[in-house]
Amino acid sequence: MEKVVSLAKRRGFVFQSSEIYGGLNGCWDYGPLGVEMLNNLKQAWWRSMTFRDDVEGVDASILMHPKVWEASGHVANFTDPMVDCKQCKSRYRVDVLMDELNTKKKKDVLREMFPGQFDGQQPDEKIVAEFAARIATDETVAQAVRILACPNCGTKGSFTEARQFNLMFKTFVGPVEDSNNVVFLRPETAQGIFVNFLNVQSASRQKLPFGIAQIGKAFRNEINTKNFLFRTREFEQMEMQYFVKPGEEDRFFEYWREERMKWFLELGMKPENLQWHKHEKLAHYAKAAFDIEFKFPFGWGEVEGIHSRTNFDLSQHEQFSGKSLKYFDEQSKEKFVPYVIETSVGASRSFMAFLCASYDEEMVAGADGEAGEVRTVLHLHPKLAPMKAAILPLVNRDGMDDLARNLTKDLQKYFRVFYDDSGAIGRRYRRQDEIGTPYCFTVDSQTLTDQTVTVRERDSMKQERIAMSAVRDYLLERI
Ligand code: ATP
Repeated sequence: MEKVVSLAKRRGFVFQSSEIYGGLNGCWDYGPLGVEMLNNLKQAWWRSMTFRDDVEGVDASILMHPKVWEASGHVANFTDPMVDCKQCKSRYRVDVLMDELNTKKKKDVLREMFPGQFDGQQPDEKIVAEFAARIATDETVAQAVRILACPNCGTKGSFTEARQFNLMFKTFVGPVEDSNNVVFLRPETAQGIFVNFLNVQSASRQKLPFGIAQIGKAFRNEINTKNFLFRTREFEQMEMQYFVKPGEEDRFFEYWREERMKWFLELGMKPENLQWHKHEKLAHYAKAAFDIEFKFPFGWGEVEGIHSRTNFDLSQHEQFSGKSLKYFDEQSKEKFVPYVIETSVGASRSFMAFLCASYDEEMVAGADGEAGEVRTVLHLHPKLAPMKAAILPLVNRDGMDDLARNLTKDLQKYFRVFYDDSGAIGRRYRRQDEIGTPYCFTVDSQTLTDQTVTVRERDSMKQERIAMSAVRDYLLERI
């Protein structure tokens, strides 16, 4: 993880927000390469979602009517139980506190909390997970907190009572800062889709089943931010709500589960680094929920949630707004509130997953029979790579640099490419490997006579010669 974070900073993928002031916890800035890669990732999602007949896009505003969040349940329920250590003043989310205990300690805590339940046996992993879930959600929180020791100062029994903490950021519209003017920074993008359901449906004349997709910023005042981009206070989500006739939700739930897993795999994720996590405990309105988890260097973590949400969200908005959100089915002449399948993936969190998945250090033979060396490489899918190609004149003379510059200019009409003429060629290749550039085109003395260039492929490091005039199509085909 440290290596990925360090590369991200050194090569301009991600910087700490307001770094010169010491940073702001849970906020990050995307640098020159990061913003390219993030845009590529969002573009890949947008294409896969909306370059089809049955999904429309929207871009709703971040600030919404405050009643939206009452209807959605966020005002009442979007909370985490939180405790403070009276000794050292550290603040923790109770479930995170439980997660951070190593398994052995967790077992001891469980035995202390639930005496007699394990009959002197070691609770197995499944039971540990089950009890940890109970601890995180129900009244046993208070009990757990009394037993746990503070991970920072080690004091036992020093925690305050658990308090519910709402994760929404509040601000005010207009000059008067009173309770009538409170608005929230949206904690998810989905509500902007729900409230626009009928607008989009009537404007686009879509018939069920159809979906609405949106990419945008979301904000959560997370108690513990951690693991780089994994849990931040400002992040981006890519969400799609698919509206279906009641009774058809199971079929489409399976369909979207398959589609979403395919998306990750097609962008180069290895199947062994992804897994499904089924939610056993569901919200009262939910029919089913699965997460796609990625194997981060610190363990498995959710990157996307796929949820079958019945007609809960639209019905809530009907009730709170007093406006009908029913769909009229022309065939059956029925009016009803559609059911919803939601796919919700973090752009920033999956950006980090793709960075981690592609990072590698490989032993390669040195130039001219020298001892081997380690090359750092990002095996990014060409679609995600911030630079699609580098154009390298072998030396800066005999017109090689002019040819390379012209090629660069030509390619820049279509792709983000990079011109580099400084340093030994091997070193230039390494610099490109490190940022995941899939192809390097080298202009050398042979180019001057036969108008061909060498293309070097990042992963195999194989080289071949192709006509300079074929470079654009070569890239188009592969990207
Ligand atoms: P978690 O349990 O990890 O907090 P969640 O279940 O609350 O996540 P959802 O509300 O389902 O997450 O959000 C959907 C997606 O948004 C997540 O899969 C994740 O990719 C992303 N996401 C949620 N919270 C954050 C955050 N604080 N920082 C970065 N990405 C986030």
